[in-house]
Amino acid sequence: MSLTLPTQFSRSARLAPRYYHDVRPRTRLTISAFPARCLQTSTDQERSITRFAFAFDIDGVLVRSSDALPRAHKALSHLQSHHVPFILLTNGGGKHETQRVHDLSEKLGVSLDVEMFVQSHTPFANFSPEEKEDKTVLVVGGDGDNCRHVAHRYGFKNVIMPCDIFAADPTVMPFSSAQLSVHKRHAQPLLDPLPPISTILVFNDPRDWALDLQLITDLLLSKGGQLGTLSTLNNNTDLPNRGYQQDGQPQLWFSNPDLLWAAKHPLPRFGQGGFREALEGVWAAITGGPQNGVSLQKRVIGKPYRFTYEFAEKKLLSHSRGMKRSTLLGTKSEDDAISSNEDSDSIKTLDRVYMVGDNPESDIKGGNEYRSPMGVKWRTALVETGVYVAGSEPKYKPSVIVGDVWDAVQWALEEERKGGGWQQ
Ligand SMILES: [Mg+2]
Repeated sequence: MSLTLPTQFSRSARLAPRYYHDVRPRTRLTISAFPARCLQTSTDQERSITRFAFAFDIDGVLVRSSDALPRAHKALSHLQSHHVPFILLTNGGGKHETQRVHDLSEKLGVSLDVEMFVQSHTPFANFSPEEKEDKTVLVVGGDGDNCRHVAHRYGFKNVIMPCDIFAADPTVMPFSSAQLSVHKRHAQPLLDPLPPISTILVFNDPRDWALDLQLITDLLLSKGGQLGTLSTLNNNTDLPNRGYQQDGQPQLWFSNPDLLWAAKHPLPRFGQGGFREALEGVWAAITGGPQNGVSLQKRVIGKPYRFTYEFAEKKLLSHSRGMKRSTLLGTKSEDDAISSNEDSDSIKTLDRVYMVGDNPESDIKGGNEYRSPMGVKWRTALVETGVYVAGSEPKYKPSVIVGDVWDAVQWALEEERKGGGWQQ
C-alpha cells in the first residue's frame, strides 16, 4: 500500500507584558537571515503575501464545546485582511472537510476554504488511485456511517464498515446484539462473495468498541484479509513477528493518536488512542505480545506525528502559492500571472510557521519536533483556553505561552516585525 503525499498587527499595538511570557530564549532575527527574494518580490502585490504562516488547532483554540472562543474571529479575520496564510490543523474528524469548513465558517464568522483545513483523516484522501479504486477498505469509527461517505468523497470506491458485516452476520459479535437495529439502519449490503480487505482505516473514534475490536482482530489473523479465514502462518517462529501479519493481512491505519480528549464531562474521556490501546492489549493477549516477539504492526498519523506536520506544511505551501496566484491574477494579464506562477511554484514560499495549540502533548510536541524538509522553521504558541491549565508546567515547552489565540497572533506578528518579516 502506498500513500502519496501531496507533493497584523500594527506597530502601535505593542504587546502588553501581561499577555504573554517567553519560555525560551529568543533569537533576534536579522534582515540578512532572510533570502534576498523575500525582500525583492517583483510587485507590491507579491510582497503583500507574507513568508510566514500559521497553523491553528481548533478545539480549545478557536472553539470550545462547539462555541466559538471570544477572540477567534478577531485573530483569523485580522490575518485574512493582511494576507497572512493560515490553515486549521485538527485531530478531530468524522465529517467531510467541506461540511466542517461550512460549520466553522458560520461559527467563527470567517470565510474559510477547504484547502485550509486538515483533519486527522484528511491524508487518507491522498492514497494512491490504485488503492482507492481497486481495493476494498474497512472504514472504522464515527457517527453512523458518516465516515463511509467521507471515504467515498475521498475517492475510495469499495468501502465496507463493521455495521455492514454485523448486519449480514450478527454472529460475528454476539455481545453487540442489543445494537443490531442501530447498526442495521446504517448498513449496506455486502458483495457475495466478500472480497478480501486490503486496508483498515480507523477514520474516527469507534462507537461500538466490542464489534470493532473483534472484526479488526479477525482480519489481522486472517489469510489475506479474507473474513472467516485464519492464517496458517500465525505463531510460526521461523517468520518475522512470529508469523503474525505476514500473510497478506490488511494494513492498519489510525488517524488520531489522542488517548484522551476534553469532552463535556468534567474528566477527560477516551479518544481513538484509547481504542488503539485496547486493541494492543487484546492483540498481545492473543499473540503473546512483545514478550513473545510479536508487535501490532500499524501506522498512526495525526498530531504530534511528523507525517501529519509534513502533510500540513505542504497544504500551507499550496495555500500560500494560491494566495499569491490570486493576487497576481488580480493585477496582471492571465498569461503573465501563469508565467509568474511557474516560477513561484519552483521555490519555497514560506520560511516560518507558527503552530498555535492548547495541547502540549500534540500541538506543541509535534510543532517543536518537526524538522521541515523544505527548511521551514516551526515555532509553537500554547494557549490557555483549552487542555493546558494556566500556571502548570507543560510537558512539552512551547516558544511562548499566551492567554488566547489573539494573543498568540499578536506575539507572532511582533516576532516577525522584529525580524523584518512584517512591515506593518
Ligand atoms: Mg485542541
